[in-house]
Amino acid sequence: MRFVFVGPQGAGKGTQSDRIARWFRVPHIETGKMLRTAAREETPLGIKASEFMDRGELVPDDVVVAMLEERITEPDAHRGFVLDGFPRTIPQAEALDEMLAANGGGIDAVISVDVPDEVLLERLSNRRTCPECGRVYNTTDHHPIEPGRCNEDGTPLIQREDDKPGPIRRRLEIFHKETAPVISFYAARGQVIHVDGVGRIEDVQSRIVSALAAKGFRRS
Ligand code: AMP
Repeated sequence: MRFVFVGPQGAGKGTQSDRIARWFRVPHIETGKMLRTAAREETPLGIKASEFMDRGELVPDDVVVAMLEERITEPDAHRGFVLDGFPRTIPQAEALDEMLAANGGGIDAVISVDVPDEVLLERLSNRRTCPECGRVYNTTDHHPIEPGRCNEDGTPLIQREDDKPGPIRRRLEIFHKETAPVISFYAARGQVIHVDGVGRIEDVQSRIVSALAAKGFRRS
């Protein structure tokens, strides 16, 4: 099972791809989270990446491709994986093809989580994140138990730099310009499953599980 989740930031692809990875018992590989961890730990890769991330821009392809390649060759990814946030450009999609072809494989399905821009803008500007564990809350319908603190570890929640209005708009523009062509790239191979991402988390998840089952992807 090798799945890719694509969708603009705020579409809920992080939440949904994590649930689908658990459902199929394969690792959830999230490039944004890997980059944020590297930035927090101030590794050379993290320092380079953070200047792009804070502006809401994409980190250069060569940096992300090398990081991803290292991750998907780890033993836990041999049975499959769910990619979240990669590929985000055509060169990344081509690099992924090459990596997988080297082992005689490829991507099995691409799930596009579709949400209109107005809904995304509202969701992202209300989003608050735990800088320690990465859990995500929002100020409208998924509050932490104690206001402003993470339910898991009590860390004060923050608004990510790239969840502020300027970077949000830039990220949406980049999605339409750079990442929408990735959906067309996989659509040309008949691999894209479009799922309506508006609604309750559980409902969107059921739509994805049913759509995958209809294509023959079932949990063994
Ligand atoms: P995300 O958490 O997926 O929204 O990613 C946060 C930020 O990390 C993005 O705005 C980019 O700056 C960077 N990033 C994550 N994945 C990629 C990728 N595949 N290519 C380039 N930049 C990425």
